[in-house]
Amino acid sequence: MQFNVTRNAASVLYSIISYFCLVVSILGLSEFMLYKYELMSVITPTAAIISALVFLILLLLKNVDSSIKSKKFCLSLVPVFFVYFLFIQFSFLFHMDVNVNLGWIDRNPFTLSLAPLFLFIIFSAFLIKIYFKNVRSVDGNRIKLVAFIIIFSGTAIWHQSSLNVVKNEEAIARERVHLIESMLNKNLSSQKQAVARIRERVESLSYDNFKTLVNIDAKSYTKDYEVIKGVLVVDKKLDFYSGNDFAKTFYANGMLEKPTIKAWMRQSSKDIQFAANSLTLNSEIPILMFLAPIKLSDGSKFYLLTLLDMNLLLEKDYLKHFSKYDTYIELTPQVYFSVDFKDKKRASLAELKSGYNYFIANKISVQGLVEHNTFSFINNYIAIHRSTVINQLILWLTFAFVFVVVLIADSSRLAELRAKYDEVTGLLRLEALNQVFTNLQSMKVINGFSTAVLKLDFFEATYNTLGHKTSDQLLKDVALRISSRAQHDDNSIIVARGTGDSFILYFTNTHLPELEEKLNNILLEVSKAYYLGNIELNLTASCGAVYYEQLASFDINYNVQQANIALEQARKHGGNQVELYQQSMENIYKETIEIRNNLYKAIQNNELEVFYQPIHCLNNQTITGVEALVRWPQKGGWVSPAKFIPVAETTEQVVRVGELVLNKVISDIKKYPQLQNIIVAVNFSTKHIVKKGFSSNLTSLLTQGNILFNNFTVEVTESSFQEKTILENTLHDLIELGVNVAIDDFGTGYSSLSSLANQPANIIKIDREFTLGAEVDSKERRLLDTIITACFDLGKVVVVEGVEDERLISYLAKHKDIRIQGYFFSKPLPIEQLIDYIENC
Ligand code: C2E
Ligand code: MG
Ligand code: MG
Repeated sequence: MQFNVTRNAASVLYSIISYFCLVVSILGLSEFMLYKYELMSVITPTAAIISALVFLILLLLKNVDSSIKSKKFCLSLVPVFFVYFLFIQFSFLFHMDVNVNLGWIDRNPFTLSLAPLFLFIIFSAFLIKIYFKNVRSVDGNRIKLVAFIIIFSGTAIWHQSSLNVVKNEEAIARERVHLIESMLNKNLSSQKQAVARIRERVESLSYDNFKTLVNIDAKSYTKDYEVIKGVLVVDKKLDFYSGNDFAKTFYANGMLEKPTIKAWMRQSSKDIQFAANSLTLNSEIPILMFLAPIKLSDGSKFYLLTLLDMNLLLEKDYLKHFSKYDTYIELTPQVYFSVDFKDKKRASLAELKSGYNYFIANKISVQGLVEHNTFSFINNYIAIHRSTVINQLILWLTFAFVFVVVLIADSSRLAELRAKYDEVTGLLRLEALNQVFTNLQSMKVINGFSTAVLKLDFFEATYNTLGHKTSDQLLKDVALRISSRAQHDDNSIIVARGTGDSFILYFTNTHLPELEEKLNNILLEVSKAYYLGNIELNLTASCGAVYYEQLASFDINYNVQQANIALEQARKHGGNQVELYQQSMENIYKETIEIRNNLYKAIQNNELEVFYQPIHCLNNQTITGVEALVRWPQKGGWVSPAKFIPVAETTEQVVRVGELVLNKVISDIKKYPQLQNIIVAVNFSTKHIVKKGFSSNLTSLLTQGNILFNNFTVEVTESSFQEKTILENTLHDLIELGVNVAIDDFGTGYSSLSSLANQPANIIKIDREFTLGAEVDSKERRLLDTIITACFDLGKVVVVEGVEDERLISYLAKHKDIRIQGYFFSKPLPIEQLIDYIENC
């Protein structure tokens, strides 16, 4: 199958591109309203707005007939677009670093995956606009709907699966926070219990034993629990009392000196409490302090503090699985504790946010006492990247699929159109009309219905002169004139291309006088000059139409046939006119068809015969020659050649008849010596004479039959034949060779006195019509006299045809050498009777 992006397909693709932008913005909006995930958006509001804007721009441009002036400049932008597209696509595929700055492209991984796609389609829309300036589709709503559904589904699938990716990622982040929360609480409880145990043991002791035991406990706890860095005991004035080395240094460094810490320690509560030591938070070992006020049996008061390394509170092994997140716990709005202690510097939230791009916030509850905000920032995009690459593939495949679907649908639409419309003229094909009319007829009762066939006069000759290509251009121009004239008049006219150079016109609700006027206007329009390259062409057309006041039954083929019958009549009358169909025409037509069919069979079966009519010279009453006349026996009688020869003339049949008669005549001449010394005339149609090789064929047949050229006459009737030059040249050749040429039926039809001198003939046969009325002294007789004298003056032989009356014979006798053919002497005779006639003469 050959893919060809037509304007229609291009416009559908353009629409699809704009629909895609619309779909993205709608999905973006729905995401914003329905699903918004905290971690990140798939279609960010900015992306949704941009794509809505692109949609609007494309929509606006679609209806603007962009007469792009500098096409070259626009095309030079294409590689720039393309390089940028490749850059973005490859950056996206191979370097999914969301911190990379790609100009105005958002760093959201999904936007990043959309960006090359957007660039590609905008660039495609741009190209479409350059190549097909007008992108309004003529016919493609069905394709558009299908393509829209595909695009919508593909984009929705992409969106849903992208949302799923975000959802899963977010679930991982939340799970991590929950894990942190439970680990933290578990550790804090066990540390609390440890402190409680120490307190329980020492509270019953005396002052002296207290110190020893505390020291022992401090040693064993710091040894057993890595997390416990020190155990510190201070008295009620918060002066150092006892502690291991770490505790000593801690105290000595003034880590309890902060008033808020002192206040916290002195509070009256007997409960074991804990607090982060804000002074150590930015150090290597951030300290969480567990505080247990102790009252010894002698009433003395101390504060027992266990100092825990916050970094060791959480077991990192468990968090490994979730390492693509960095979690920070907000201890105070100024202090953020990194669970992963990757970042020693616990800066402000704004600073954290600028270091990463995407995070989720959670609250964790510590020991059911306090709530802390946590922020989990994503630091590794590998999994998201993998998913976006796969998801982007969904979109590419959707576009590829839609492209193929549009092209396939468009090529099948084109095939349909080609079947419906003619390629040369763009008009409806005759075959497609049936459907149009079945629809039309089912809609309403049609009054004033007409079918017309318009055909160019002598198009064959024009075609031969112009050649195929220019003739097609001419037909296209004619079609354009007909349809624009038809539309100008009324849009209830349907124009279709008929066969060859004919056009079919259908009129509805157009009554007779109006119809004739419209058809004449169309003929007038068609007859205006054509300019094909540097050729100026003037031609005319004829039109036949059938009219129905009310259309009872509809038969397109029959209507065209009727219009064709009328057309034939119009052409017969010289063309360049409109003829309306009448029933009588059809009878003639039917008869013509019947004659044609029967004649075909008669020729095949060699049924045609030849009769001869003698031609006498009045001077000495001798037979100077005979005229061979074809005879067609049928049903015991004869079909008159006056009836069947004109029918045969409309086709090549007349040539076959001429050949048959010639062969019969030659064999008769060969057979009967009586025919060898007189002139035998045979009638030939002009169609036959202009055939290539006519004169050479004839002369070789005559030579083969030992017939003297000057004993043979070619009779031809003048007509409005187009190929006059060829005809005249052939006749001149024949005269030069010594063959006689007779102009038959002189005085009728096209012959005129003025043309007599130029006739390529040495014999003039004056038609019977001229002799009628010339029997007595009359105008006709004087006219006949003038013609005969003129012919003699030009040195022509004159034969007067159809002479029946003796009075005419005696009058014509004054012209020496005049020849007479007519019933007065003899009717046309079969060969045997002719031979008898000649012998008895
Ligand atoms: P045409 O060539 O002018 O032939 C003379 C016609 O006049 C013949 O009619 C003939 O029978 C008729 N005719 C001759 N004398 C008289 C007369 O005194 N009174 C009357 N009323 N008619 C007379 P036909 O045979 O019916 O032929 C009619 C025409 O058919 C011919 O006219 C010729 O044009 C054509 N035709 C006949 N045979 C052939 C043929 O073999 N080939 C071609 N191409 N045309 C032929
Ligand atoms: Mg004749
Ligand atoms: Mg004649």
